Amino acid sequence: MKEGQGLFNDLYQEIILDHYKNPRNTRDLSSLPDDHLHENPTCGDSLKLDIRMENGLVKEVFFDGHGCAVSMASASIMTEHLKGMTANEAVEYIHQFINNVQCGVDDFDQFGELAAFGGLSRFPLRIKCATLAWHAMETVITSIDA
Ligand code: ZN
Repeated sequence: MKEGQGLFNDLYQEIILDHYKNPRNTRDLSSLPDDHLHENPTCGDSLKLDIRMENGLVKEVFFDGHGCAVSMASASIMTEHLKGMTANEAVEYIHQFINNVQCGVDDFDQFGELAAFGGLSRFPLRIKCATLAWHAMETVITSIDA
């Protein structure tokens, strides 16, 4: 397989490249301790997340990281999608997204531009890239709740 071919259609590639080049909600989180660092060693992706809750709802999500286009775009899009959710809703949403990516489910209607990651199920290494931020966010949110 040639690099970059067959992974995405043009629209989805555009969405991913846009978020990769212009990531939303980034912030310097280098002051956070290293146990906040989430990594995907097989690809070299790493990121830290920060979350602000207000009145029981996700107010803002920030990320600071580096890695491949898929991992960074997925993190960027995630920071926009979780706003306004309760912790429980966010965890539910995270599970649905990860499940859809892993299983290649077509039912991405409710996920909007996250459908860009729907074609990755045949590429196990890419799944780890696409879900890195989401697994990290689950860890962060459930630790807030505890
Ligand atoms: Zn990656």
